[in-house]
Amino acid sequence: MAEDPLPPLREVIAAHDLGAKKAFGQHFLLDLNLTRKIAGLAGDMSGSHAMEVGPGPGGLTRGILALDPRRLTVVEKDERFLGALDDIAKAFPQKMDIVRDDALAVSEADFMDGEDKVILSNLPYNVGTLLLIKWLEAEPIWWRRAVLMFQREVADRVVATVGSKAYGRLAILSQSVCSARLALKIPARAFTPPPKVESAVVVLDPLPREERFDDLEALGIVTASAFGQRRKTLRKSLGQAASKCGMSSDELLERADIDPSARAETISIEGFQKLARIWRDAKA
Ligand code: SAM
Repeated sequence: MAEDPLPPLREVIAAHDLGAKKAFGQHFLLDLNLTRKIAGLAGDMSGSHAMEVGPGPGGLTRGILALDPRRLTVVEKDERFLGALDDIAKAFPQKMDIVRDDALAVSEADFMDGEDKVILSNLPYNVGTLLLIKWLEAEPIWWRRAVLMFQREVADRVVATVGSKAYGRLAILSQSVCSARLALKIPARAFTPPPKVESAVVVLDPLPREERFDDLEALGIVTASAFGQRRKTLRKSLGQAASKCGMSSDELLERADIDPSARAETISIEGFQKLARIWRDAKA
């Protein structure tokens, strides 16, 4: 484990006057034992180029560096953190680069290299699911593993299975290209300032290429429509999406062997993939 010569995070925050900003979804992890545990979920990083989104004052950053990855690039939108992040980069020479940008807008290929790339983030609440979708939709998926902290309710929606309350678009998109597991629950009191809700870390591993569903866009449209009105039958909720490909919802469902009076949460991921394929082919 690499030695951390830096002062405790509370001192860093006070020295650089880094009060949390709500608009940027800022809740900081200050316990380096916990951040090392989270970083450890990425597995052996000795040959990895790690990317951390939203390092803030650097709690998770230092957890990652303690595990000595080959390289770490952090992407931070709020420039107030650059001074504290520079201090970390200096304490771990030749290891860390800082990209001051919006993680939604960057092209990771511009700064991530090598065979083995991992993503780690205590995601900002306001853009967490958008970032996840961006990384899932990457063609091809460029990362070996993603270790992502979300609000518990969002984490539940990523790992949900068919029939459960949390099952919906996010579970179907995520699990159509990855295996996803809830690895760690984190109580609100672990953060400064504490958020209103519990958080959880999800670990995502891309499926072998031949098993990944190949059209997340079509799947996104069909599932958004199906779960947009989750209490209604699919015959009703899929009407709009079906009309976009020139079919009635009955016709679309019939071709996929799905009962039109069923509700979205009872249809398996494979069922939605079948619907998305038929929808895409009809649209083309
Ligand atoms: N990693 C730190 C920790 O665990 O203590 C801070 C996590 S805090 C929940 C989220 C961080 O993401 C903040 O530093 C915030 O400024 C940053 N952030 C918010 N939106 C961002 C975006 N679009 N791109 C990059 N960073 C962003």
